Amino acid sequence: MLPPQSILSEVFGYAAFRGPQADIIDHVIGGGDALVLMPTGGGKSLCYQIPAIARQRAGKGITVVVSPLIALMHDQVGALHEAGVEAAFLNSTLSGEEANAVEKKLLRGEITLLYAAPERITTPRFLAQLDSLHERGQLALFAIDEAHCVSQWGHDFRPEYRALAVLHERFAGVPRIALTATADALTREDIVQHLQLQEARQFISSFDRPNIRYAIAEKKDATSQLLRFISNEHDGEAGIVYCQSRKRVEEIAQTLCQEGVDALPYHAGLEPDVRQRHQDRFLRDEGVVMVATIAFGMGIDKPDVRFVAHLDLPKNIEGYYQETGRAGRDGLPADAWMAYGLQDVVNQRRMIDEGEAPEEFKQVLRGKLDALLALAEATDCRRVRLLDYFGEQSQPCGNCDNCLNPPQVWDGTDAARKLLSTIYRVQQQSGISFGAGHIMDILRGKATEKVKQFGHERISTFGLGAEFSEQQLRGVLRQLIGIGALAVDASAFNTLQLTEGSRAVLKGERTIELRESVAASTGGKKGRAA
Ligand code: ADP
Ligand code: ZN
Repeated sequence: MLPPQSILSEVFGYAAFRGPQADIIDHVIGGGDALVLMPTGGGKSLCYQIPAIARQRAGKGITVVVSPLIALMHDQVGALHEAGVEAAFLNSTLSGEEANAVEKKLLRGEITLLYAAPERITTPRFLAQLDSLHERGQLALFAIDEAHCVSQWGHDFRPEYRALAVLHERFAGVPRIALTATADALTREDIVQHLQLQEARQFISSFDRPNIRYAIAEKKDATSQLLRFISNEHDGEAGIVYCQSRKRVEEIAQTLCQEGVDALPYHAGLEPDVRQRHQDRFLRDEGVVMVATIAFGMGIDKPDVRFVAHLDLPKNIEGYYQETGRAGRDGLPADAWMAYGLQDVVNQRRMIDEGEAPEEFKQVLRGKLDALLALAEATDCRRVRLLDYFGEQSQPCGNCDNCLNPPQVWDGTDAARKLLSTIYRVQQQSGISFGAGHIMDILRGKATEKVKQFGHERISTFGLGAEFSEQQLRGVLRQLIGIGALAVDASAFNTLQLTEGSRAVLKGERTIELRESVAASTGGKKGRAA
């Protein structure tokens, strides 16, 4: 059999394998199953392309690659053709005639790698064709790309992926390699279980992207913060700005353009030809900033994206990691910058609470959101936190906002207890709950119309927190919501509700740490511990 090293240099023109590639390729060529976790840009494709070529040349037949995205298939097949490898795809862009031609080639064994969408692979017709190859010993390998799509806990669940278990049941003995760039422990378990990869060897790469500098800022005026970030640090450079909604994408793109940034919008509501045009410009021209919803990005291989900015909080750390991972694929310094505030927390909670999902599912989603909030509120190394989430231990990186400018922390426990007891007392007195603004007014001793209307100036904590600024208290509220010691009831005007977790804070068993910058920027002096 041709050694993998020769295929690497002769077919792909690369000198050496990267990281775990060589081990993975040896294992798969040898007929073993594999689960590969490697960050974006790590070089997953070669992990199945080289075994496909090696096994094909050894007379073992074709490799079927399951891929969820048409654009991705086109790119990969195009690149393989350039390298002189027989590759094809089967998807909805082909006419009946074209698809037939591919199937003929497939059955004649004239293809080394066949890319297909999961829903295509699991059709009876296609499975029958695979049967016929299998009987002749001409099925070399199954590669399942973006394997996290099988997990409903991931950010990109595709039910069709579940049906891929058939590959193991029907074609026992044909090796399988599943690959993904995003997998926390839960998702990983799901992949193993649903794709029946219990016997597969797991190759887990470091998820660290040392050239990316992570920074998370408190949201004040997001648009001007973004403008400052771009003009100070990335003037004229390519980047992606992620926003929650289509409307916001449009607004931000427009504002950036008015300020002289070469920005384009991208979201699922735009006409396909507009989307394509914007994507082409982003890939081709220098220094284009794409303002997008998460509809943009998967399969985009642009090496010199110098920054990824989040103007709204993603749903979870996997999403954040995958999106920020699109920066700096060339290995040169890049920024992952996010602005987030209390409203983000409220919005994300509300989306979960008001969603259609069953309660147990919502619990998982809340847990994942909490982990992201903890990352956002962290006062220590972001990278340590991020990698820890993926099960990887590391040392402070020296290249994130918290490492570069260690935030002073102040003890917000007192403020937290006062807030919680105000919420409790107001609820006791009035029998209903109130929102953040009103609770803060009471604690700060502001006798607003509403405070007077409900007689809340008689609450015993009225004015007890006069030394705290509104901004400080917002920080405390974010933390409390982040750690589950306070809930926002989206079905009742975003009122604040005590939770099981409130008790530990009220009883002083749990401390609340906040970054000093929050306090310093408002000039607040009291309420800080030494
Ligand atoms: P992933 O799918 O993990 O995001 P890709 O397979 O697209 O990553 O690889 C990312 C880039 O790295 C591609 O341009 C690929 O050609 C390149 N690459 C992969 N392996 C090597 C290698 N051993 N040497 C040099 N370049 C490599
Ligand atoms: Zn760090």
